[in-house]
Amino acid sequence: MKAAGKGPALLRLNNLKRVMTQLRATRITSRQDLALALELSKNTVSLIVDDLLEQGLINELGPVSVAAAGRPKIEITLRAEKLKSAGIMVERNAIHWRVCDYFSQVIAEQTWNTNTADPALLLPELVEVCQTLHAAHPELLGIAVGFPGIIDPQRGWVHFSAHLGWQDVDVLTPLKNATALPLRIMHNVKAAALLSVQQLDLNKSQSHFYLRIGEGVGGALVEQGEVLVGSSWTAGEIGHMQVQPQGMRCSCGRLGCLETLVSKPAVQQQLGQRKSGLRWQNAASEPQIVNEVMTSTGQHLGSALSPLMQLVNPASIIIDGPWNSHPAFVQAVQQTAQASTLAFTFTHTQLHFLPQRIDPANGLALAVVEQYERAIA
Ligand SMILES: [Zn+2]
Repeated sequence: MKAAGKGPALLRLNNLKRVMTQLRATRITSRQDLALALELSKNTVSLIVDDLLEQGLINELGPVSVAAAGRPKIEITLRAEKLKSAGIMVERNAIHWRVCDYFSQVIAEQTWNTNTADPALLLPELVEVCQTLHAAHPELLGIAVGFPGIIDPQRGWVHFSAHLGWQDVDVLTPLKNATALPLRIMHNVKAAALLSVQQLDLNKSQSHFYLRIGEGVGGALVEQGEVLVGSSWTAGEIGHMQVQPQGMRCSCGRLGCLETLVSKPAVQQQLGQRKSGLRWQNAASEPQIVNEVMTSTGQHLGSALSPLMQLVNPASIIIDGPWNSHPAFVQAVQQTAQASTLAFTFTHTQLHFLPQRIDPANGLALAVVEQYERAIA
């Protein structure tokens, strides 16, 4: 333990952080099980748990019968509703927020359409949302605000956002001036990536790549439980990998990015074109067309996964997209990725196709919790 050399106070804080993280992961446990899992003495754990009890952050659920003689185990759980966090997701023409408890369960949420193209109009609106959320939920540990684009989480700047039409906007300063809560400015997809690793209960000591298909295509590498940002904040931007040099124009201005082939609007356009062609030629039936488009979409994605597997070699790739329910898509991704990747690498990379979409606002709220736990130690 790193903190050991720095004195007992730091050590105690580090132990508290580990206890909180463990309580969040297991939800229901006991002093004995905590001590065992964290390799701490029962005495150390009891001191921390008693302190949390006193603060009203823990519920004792009662004794469980143990076969062996000895002190009965008392089950304990965090009072997750006492430690809330909020995530506000900004998208083109919309704001969506969620307030979650410590276990990432949604307590409240709201979505509305608004003009997000002008920072001078949007920032005061965000200030108001933060203040309203804080007033309604005094237990908030913090708020994370997420954006699409090139986001510097350290400075809290949106350097560039094609979706919003923003360039070099300082988001953190106006929000910081208006609320006393800890704040975090992030990329929406990077926040969603954190939640995907938690939901799938993946090994946090390994690295995992999250790939999100929506209006655009984004990605993020989570390593040791943290999102890799990169030296100019664009690590993981797989959507702008050029896969067809003579292809269609992308939102970034270049030609043939992966996004122009597999994003929601791109695939919907292909489906629309093919289906309207149905009336002219009696070539293929509608299910056949869907199947063909899903197959080619899967092939494009699968070939883009190969360099990712080779260069980054993550333990798993998590695909969160609207096409996951189509077996033709899933199969094409797997087969194409397998065909274009070293066999050894491919067999050691888990591919997860999420059955349910992740809400980035939930991921943002989780990012607040993780920051809070890091700040304890
Ligand atoms: Zn692009």
